[in-house]
Amino acid sequence: METKTDFLIIGSGIAGLSMALKLAPLGRVVVLTKKSESSTATNLAQGGIAAVLGEDDSFELHQQDTLMAGDGLCHEGIVKTIVCQGPERIRDLEDLGVRFSRQPGNPEKFDLGKEGGHSRRRIVHAGDFTGTEIQKILIERVHEKPSVSILEDHIVVDLITECKIGTCTAEKDEKERCLGAYVLEVKTGIIHTFLAPVTVISTGGAGKVYLYTSNPDVATGDGIAVAYRAGARIANPEFVQFHPTCLYHPKAKNFLISEALRGEGGRLLNFSGEAFMEKYAPGLRELAGRDIVARAIDTELKKSGKDCVYLDISHKPAGFLIKRFPNIYARCIELGIDMTKEPIPVVPAAHYMCGGIVTDSYGETDLRGLFALGETACTGLHGANRLASNSLLEGLVMAHQAYLRAREIFSELRDRKAPRVPEWDTGGAVDMEEAVLISYNWDVIRRLMWNYVGIVRSNRRLNLARQRLIPILEEIRHHYWDYILTRDFIELRNLAQVAELIIAAASQRKESRGGHYTMDYTCKDDWNWRKDTIIKRTGH
Ligand SMILES: Cc1cc2nc3c(=O)[nH]c(=O)nc-3n(C[C@H](O)[C@H](O)[C@H](O)COP(=O)(O)OP(=O)(O)OC[C@H]3O[C@@H](n4cnc5c(N)ncnc54)[C@H](O)[C@@H]3O)c2cc1C
Repeated sequence: METKTDFLIIGSGIAGLSMALKLAPLGRVVVLTKKSESSTATNLAQGGIAAVLGEDDSFELHQQDTLMAGDGLCHEGIVKTIVCQGPERIRDLEDLGVRFSRQPGNPEKFDLGKEGGHSRRRIVHAGDFTGTEIQKILIERVHEKPSVSILEDHIVVDLITECKIGTCTAEKDEKERCLGAYVLEVKTGIIHTFLAPVTVISTGGAGKVYLYTSNPDVATGDGIAVAYRAGARIANPEFVQFHPTCLYHPKAKNFLISEALRGEGGRLLNFSGEAFMEKYAPGLRELAGRDIVARAIDTELKKSGKDCVYLDISHKPAGFLIKRFPNIYARCIELGIDMTKEPIPVVPAAHYMCGGIVTDSYGETDLRGLFALGETACTGLHGANRLASNSLLEGLVMAHQAYLRAREIFSELRDRKAPRVPEWDTGGAVDMEEAVLISYNWDVIRRLMWNYVGIVRSNRRLNLARQRLIPILEEIRHHYWDYILTRDFIELRNLAQVAELIIAAASQRKESRGGHYTMDYTCKDDWNWRKDTIIKRTGH
């Protein structure tokens, strides 16, 4: 079945919904989301949004902190654009109805949090439910717009481009056009054709490529995979940020212990109860960059052979902790851990994909009519490592930027003659009888990525990872047209694709920088490697 709309948005997180609200007055907007509308990383964000709102703060300081975290690879122009729009975009959210925490006794002023890597208090938050509050309000506002519809349980299979359907008319210097996407309606198994002059990928991260991750189940890197297959450039996928402190408990899946806990004085202890961060980051200790803290924990775990370390904030008054971290406190109590009295067991976990689909400062990709926003994109803001709480900010600002560009080019794209797009052809595909084929490969990929392409890498580990991935990729390619597509199969295909890109990029980079650390080249090499890793599908 074919659906025509003006704007097709893939993803219902902060980036996709912010864009939908902006575009609503311009035409019909369809938002696709592969599970429920609130199954997003946005919904899980605890810490908050970084923005210059404190009296002792400045745009220059926020830019400097971002550049420092990015370890030489940030693009300064986009850093400036995003940082300087921060306060305005926070006001947009407030106008929509988002309620941020205020200083006790001073309701005029935001209660600004402090996080690792930030030289000032600048994290705007709603308790430690910031993401949930934002997600809820954005959904409420979107539901009020008659021109916007959200389709849940609709997963994008692939983008439709002129070349894909054999009607490429782009001149030598012209960009190829994106026409929309093939989309599986999960509940019926039907693959629909969605056509739009403007398509926006806002599919979030790829944390599920690793065994341990803070990310929600939807984070399988679909946006990066579909854009790569469509011929767009992907940058810096080797820079995966590992969050140092995910709750370690058999019943806790993906539960993050926010950076803010360390910002408020939490100390990391090893199994013997020793505070160890001074050894790894003298002076900064727990507030060192995430890569440094994650590597320090990894080293302590490998040395001790234990499963976790501990984060202790029990020296702070119980009343303060319960008020400042209600979400973390409640979750820990559910699991029998009282953070006001005892340390919290934690492990590092894959948290944020710093690389992604290459875009310009207006979110435009290499394909005409295709935008990428939020965690799936690589704008150049994060460089080799993301500064905490800069990602919600990026999603917000880039939605605004992309809206400005989309508004400018929409009528020209709409008025162009669109080629006839064939319906999805399932051919002789049959039902996959054994789901274990998918779950097995999924598990193998996540384990091999964790063990060989994780916090500490080496040439040998990367080679092993590549060798083990090749037969899985072949099996997926081989079966792709044999079996009727399901959400799990689509995600496995994308996960494998993203794993391949991460391994390829990590193998190319012969240095350690930001989120990429290899035992074979432990130093940063600005002379040879102060540049983005760019990967583009060959033979396209
Ligand atoms: C636990 C946790 C805590 C965090 N805390 C913070 C924080 O305090 N501050 C901060 O700045 N950042 C934080 N981050 C990072 C931040 O939350 C994310 O980077 C950001 O929310 C990403 O927003 P997004 O709109 O790009 O994607 P998401 O919010 O992840 O939304 C992605 C959407 O895309 C949809 N989708 C994916 N693939 C497909 C497909 N094939 N077809 C259709 N739909 C698809 C999903 O269903 C979902 O709706 C945190 C992340 C996590 C996991």
